[in-house]
Amino acid sequence: MEVKDIKDTQLAQNPVIAQMMQNNHEQVVFCNDNATGLKAIIAIHNTILGPSLGGTRMWNYNNEMEALNDVLRLSRGMTFKSSVAGLNLGGGKAVIIGDSKKIKSEALLRRFGKFVDSLGGKYITAEDVAMSSRDMEIIHMETEHVSGLPENMGGSGDPSPVTAYGVYVSMKASAKETWGSDSLSGKKVLVQGIGHVGESLVEHLTKEGAKVYVNDISDERVKNAVTKYKAEAVAADKMFDLDIDIYAPCALGASVNDDTLGRLKCKIICGAANNQLADEKKHGEMVKQKGILYAPDFVVNAGGIINVYYELEGYNRERALAHAEKIYETTWNLFQLSKQENIPTYLAAIRLAEKRLESIARINAVL
Ligand code: NAD
Repeated sequence: MEVKDIKDTQLAQNPVIAQMMQNNHEQVVFCNDNATGLKAIIAIHNTILGPSLGGTRMWNYNNEMEALNDVLRLSRGMTFKSSVAGLNLGGGKAVIIGDSKKIKSEALLRRFGKFVDSLGGKYITAEDVAMSSRDMEIIHMETEHVSGLPENMGGSGDPSPVTAYGVYVSMKASAKETWGSDSLSGKKVLVQGIGHVGESLVEHLTKEGAKVYVNDISDERVKNAVTKYKAEAVAADKMFDLDIDIYAPCALGASVNDDTLGRLKCKIICGAANNQLADEKKHGEMVKQKGILYAPDFVVNAGGIINVYYELEGYNRERALAHAEKIYETTWNLFQLSKQENIPTYLAAIRLAEKRLESIARINAVL
């Protein structure tokens, strides 16, 4: 039943249930513990492909509705990300409400771990904003359903090199679509954010002979990239006016917006940051109109989830990297679909993800 059909019933007037129904979320769990100050929401969007997996984000939301909106949006995104990456994982996410610097404690994290455990494996957690691998170790004291553990605990460690490799191969597929060759040699690439993923990406690009420009709010990270990779530093107020071929957002989200799209001269946008389009529909269409090829973020940066997926069955980095290499083909395929159907690339990626979900749901129904 569609939400609009039951608008007048009491059920649909409940904003939580209405929102769950809007995007077909399976389950939303509200966690509260006065003793530790824990207030969290776990959202399971879809488990057709497998257990839902997605990080736990700690954030000082203004109110519970804001936290709910975030966790519902992020968990749905995880369903698409895992589906299009060909993983047997569903989409889930958790948010802990509060200032991590003020309220995070061992007791709070362990209490959260108990809530995760109560779901019996239907939700597997991992690191996200304001959560560290040490926090994952603490949550792991209460539940097995944690991924992204440190290597010395049998985990997969830092996923960033695998994520960066995925971004690199996706960029090559984007180059092939744009210029007919996937070589990045001589291409001018701006990498914004030289953190864990950004630095590893700069290394791949430098090895291939690209001309790399770097920007970061950390002077130290910029200096490191300039010294180590001979990259060229560019100031924040100049970077979007540069004459470049490729823009690689590897810092925060929403960097593709009205302002930057008015200035960017690149032919390709392909980077690791989540939620790069400030407004998915509006800016997804705008990049298309401007003749910029946008490689959808959740396809490009799937190396991270691919990496933790391989942790679940006994970690092997070679297999994780081999799977991440398939991001080349997926990127290429979605570009073809985007052209065939004359739809923006972000939509083509969602269609690919939905197609896999629908086909596997059909098999499940038969079995
Ligand atoms: P990170 O924190 O190691 O690096 C981010 C870098 O961006 C830092 O050096 C920071 O100083 C810089 N930065 C922050 N704001 C900036 C701004 N306004 N302008 C320029 N630089 C800025 O993070 P990371 O692990 O490298 O991840 C980068 C992005 O990719 C994030 O958006 C993350 O959510 C996304 N992502 C990462 C992974 C992964 O495996 N690490 C997987 C999927 C998605």
